[in-house]
Amino acid sequence: MNFYYFSICHLCKRSSDSLKKCSHCRVPFYCSRAHQLLDWPNHKNLCKAITNTNKFRSIAPGCSAVDFNQFKYTNSLLWRYEVGRELEFAEQQMWMFPKVCSVCFSFEAEIVCEICTSVAYCCEEHQNSHKEEHAKSCPTLKMCLLVYQTLCTEELTVDWVKFKINREATGQGENLEQTIKHMGFTNPHDFSKKQVDYIIMTEYFCPALNLIYPLEKTRFIERRQAKKPTVVMHVVGPSTNENKMSWILIVEYLSHWVFNLKAAKVFLIGPEVNKEETATITLKCAECKAKNFVGTVVKIKGLYHDHVNYIPRPDLIVCFNSGLHEFMDSKGDTWKKSIPKLVGFRGVPTMLTAYTETELKKDVGRFKESHINYIVTPQRNPFSSLRPNRNWEEGSEPVFYQSGYVAIVTKK
Ligand SMILES: [Zn+2]
Ligand SMILES: [Zn+2]
Ligand SMILES: [Zn+2]
Ligand SMILES: [Zn+2]
Ligand SMILES: [Zn+2]
Repeated sequence: MNFYYFSICHLCKRSSDSLKKCSHCRVPFYCSRAHQLLDWPNHKNLCKAITNTNKFRSIAPGCSAVDFNQFKYTNSLLWRYEVGRELEFAEQQMWMFPKVCSVCFSFEAEIVCEICTSVAYCCEEHQNSHKEEHAKSCPTLKMCLLVYQTLCTEELTVDWVKFKINREATGQGENLEQTIKHMGFTNPHDFSKKQVDYIIMTEYFCPALNLIYPLEKTRFIERRQAKKPTVVMHVVGPSTNENKMSWILIVEYLSHWVFNLKAAKVFLIGPEVNKEETATITLKCAECKAKNFVGTVVKIKGLYHDHVNYIPRPDLIVCFNSGLHEFMDSKGDTWKKSIPKLVGFRGVPTMLTAYTETELKKDVGRFKESHINYIVTPQRNPFSSLRPNRNWEEGSEPVFYQSGYVAIVTKK
């Protein structure tokens, strides 16, 4: 996994007091000439594109946040055009998080926050004027970097993968931290290696806990017993994130959490499904084997309203960070016909999650108020991942979380 920060070597991802920037495009930094040379084959094409477009840096310091966002976005299009392919994740982060003053957006920004090393300033005056504001997100930004550094050096061998849930636990509790305690883990809140592992763990378990949340709310699951031995879930409009999710882990967690559950069927339906497939998951652990538990993950590429009538009736419908509102009123609005189907089953909860409260409210706004009842009104998701992600848009919250906000509705 590759990523970009202006405060670490772009090759080895380590911090250093003597970072040198690429002298052509001035975007990536390196700890040594040797590391720059080693990275050159990867960086070469984009470096030329950045240098050719020239526009980069041609924005007046002191512009508004809105203008600077537009400027960054324009750069991304120019770079992509020049390089003739989609930008990779780390390359995207280069236009998203350039080394500029957080106050005036000047590219002459040599003062870097020593704690998070994620923000820069052109002068002490600007750093001081931003101190109070930055203090709110500085520790979280530091955690963003620590998580990235850990993920790029370690495979998932952390021992929490073999999880065990306390059999005495009767419900998920108030939030993710309480639930994860049922597996014997607590958040040390101390920026140690242990905490970074903990935060990464929450990212993996959060989807499973999110699926259980509406099922416990509607008492489909009560005291870790389900109303019926099979649960059917429709995950609508999955993106790269949901395609990549560890569905084996999610399904196994469900099996361990719900004592009488014999089968979990997950249908991922959307235009961004990576490939059509039906995977049967047979779990090898003694607990799952003893009850002959079977998990099924079916991936269907297409629109929900075209397929919903041909698959088993859901017990839960979920849209993870789907952005229902995004193409509203445009020709590309693929959600229009699917919206009524999302709340088409009486007694079945529909859960929507989003990165921000504003986005979530717009998403929920697509349902006719007269057609739905709220089980959970749009709010901060108690079962959101604890892993912070940097937000590139200046002027909004500096970080966001996967499924950071949640709403649960049912058909009226
Ligand atoms: Zn290096
Ligand atoms: Zn370069
Ligand atoms: Zn400045
Ligand atoms: Zn900081
Ligand atoms: Zn198991």
